Amino acid sequence: MKYEIKELEKMAKRIRLDVMEMVYDVKDGHPGPCFSITEIVTALYFGGIINVDPENPLWMERDRFVLSKGHACPAVYSALARRGFFPSEELLTLRKIDSRIQGHPYIYKTPGIDASTGSLGNGIATAVGMAKGLKIKKDDAFVYTVIGDGEMNEGIVWEALMAASHHRLSNLIVFLDNNLWQSGGSIEDISGLNNLDERVKTFGWNTISIDGHDYTQIRDAVTAAKAQNSKPNMIVCSTVKGKGLPFTESDNSWHKRVPTDEQMVIAREILSGVSK
Ligand SMILES: [Mg+2]
Repeated sequence: MKYEIKELEKMAKRIRLDVMEMVYDVKDGHPGPCFSITEIVTALYFGGIINVDPENPLWMERDRFVLSKGHACPAVYSALARRGFFPSEELLTLRKIDSRIQGHPYIYKTPGIDASTGSLGNGIATAVGMAKGLKIKKDDAFVYTVIGDGEMNEGIVWEALMAASHHRLSNLIVFLDNNLWQSGGSIEDISGLNNLDERVKTFGWNTISIDGHDYTQIRDAVTAAKAQNSKPNMIVCSTVKGKGLPFTESDNSWHKRVPTDEQMVIAREILSGVSK
C-alpha cells in the first residue's frame, strides 16, 4: 500500500482523531506522544514502507515493527485498524477489560503487534534480537522501531546500540522521536540528552537527521538506510509533541491527558472530514 502525500495527510488526521476519540472514551491515555509519531506511523503503514499482510499478521516473511515507546500505542492501533488488521469499531475498546487493545502493546492479544512493550528501553533491545535472528536465518526482512528521546535515558538502550553495531544489523531501522520532551519535563532539563545524532553515530550507527513530520524526508531516509549494508540505522526525527491540534502542540501536559467535551468538539472540527 503506497498512498500519495495528500492521502497520507488525510490518514494522519484520521489517526489523530482516532487517538482523541479513544482517549476521550476511556478517559485515559497519551495523546501527545502519539501525535509526534503520527507521520512516521502513517508513512510506515500507508506510504509503502513496511511489508506486512493484514490478512496474515504472522506471515513469516513480513517486516517487523516494534513500538519501543509503547505508551504511544493508540496511534499504532489506529494505523493497524485502518490497514485492516482488525475492525476499526474495536478502537473504542482501548484499555477496557477483555479488549484486544490494551494501554501498552501486547503481542499475544493484538493482530499486527510484533512485541510487547511499555517498559522503556526494552523495545529497542527486542528489536535488536529480532534483527539478529533474521540475519541468522538469511531472511531479508527489515525491523522497524520507534523510540522516544526520553527513552534514551534508559541504560539498556545504549547496550542495545552497542550490540546492534557489533552485529552489523543493517536490517534494523530505528526512528528516534526527538520531540524534546518526556513525561516529567523537557529533555534538556532532565537529562541533557542533546546531539543524539552524534552520540548514536559514535556507537557505530548510520544516522540520518530529518523532519519527522515530512513524508518525503521519511521516505528518502528509509531509502538511504536500505542502501547500506554494514551498520544499523537511526533516523533522528525532529518532531513536535502534540503535533496536529493547536491546544496540544508543544504542551507537555498532553503527555497523558484526557480531552474535555469542548476540546473534543474542536478536535473533531479540525480533524474530521476525512475518510472513515
Ligand atoms: Mg519525547
